[in-house]
Amino acid sequence: MRTTDTIKVVANAKINLYLDVVGKRQDGYHNLETIFHSIGLHDELILNKQVKKGISVICTHPDVPTDKRNLAYLAAQSLYDEVGGFGGIEIYINKSIPVAAGLAGGSANAAATLVGVNELFDLGIDDEVIRHIGRELGADVPFCLHGGAAFGSGIGDILEPLSPLTDISVVLINSGVQITTKSVFDKLHIPLTRRENNSIIVKSYFETGDLFGIAGNLYNLLEIPVFSNYPKLSELKNEVSKQEGCLGVLMSGSGATLFALMEDKSAAQQCETYFKKRVNYCSITQTSSVGVYIAN
Ligand code: ATP
Repeated sequence: MRTTDTIKVVANAKINLYLDVVGKRQDGYHNLETIFHSIGLHDELILNKQVKKGISVICTHPDVPTDKRNLAYLAAQSLYDEVGGFGGIEIYINKSIPVAAGLAGGSANAAATLVGVNELFDLGIDDEVIRHIGRELGADVPFCLHGGAAFGSGIGDILEPLSPLTDISVVLINSGVQITTKSVFDKLHIPLTRRENNSIIVKSYFETGDLFGIAGNLYNLLEIPVFSNYPKLSELKNEVSKQEGCLGVLMSGSGATLFALMEDKSAAQQCETYFKKRVNYCSITQTSSVGVYIAN
């Protein structure tokens, strides 16, 4: 039983090493085949119990709404409704994950809030119910709760665990373009011929821990609509691929962050130095085996 009035939760971002869209659903969502991987880049959420009832959100990033549009707010609200109330809460989000960037920042915040509020108020809600509530909040929330590496099907919420890559250096490069997931899917033409077997091949590289196999088969169908709107991103990807020690580069999720899997830390540092002056955002992180976790 937790006796403190505050809790700190770390919310790791994710990248997609593989993403194919396999069909459109009646409910407007798309069925995907994707391989998620957690990365060490994270937001920190400090959850503070309040005497006054209600939910409030503070975020260090000016573009992130702090009202009911915030996924962390909605996550706390969902738990509140589930148990019929738990007093007041303030959610302080220290944002490091770029916003609307394909790195699931909002979903990670929602997952962290679900885990943190459950623990802070000792609600005793089991993992299955937390997962179910998470799925209602967003397609990436179940993976953020799961963490590590996983193959996702359905809307990305049916997860099959994969062995995570251990501490592989990753360079994240974002040119500053913010893209909404909806706008990308609206523009997407799903190819009539399926890329049969490709997700199976990439999954098999995970089974054998073959980093070169994984890096050589990175794929994201959503690059097609995004690059056609932003041709400069395609040029940027090409430039990243030429960096020494770059094993593979891909756009994450619906974009527009590019991630590069690097041979080692020193190659990652060289790549970061090169792009830091040229793009809006560039940072080094590494693959992680966890999604969200309580830090105190
Ligand atoms: P995904 O990869 O899951 O599609 P994303 O990384 O592209 O997501 P987010 O950073 O989650 O995008 O932000 C998408 C939108 O969600 C933003 O424009 C923002 O207004 C809204 N949003 C709501 N809550 C949050 C939050 N806690 N953090 C960031 N954005 C949030």
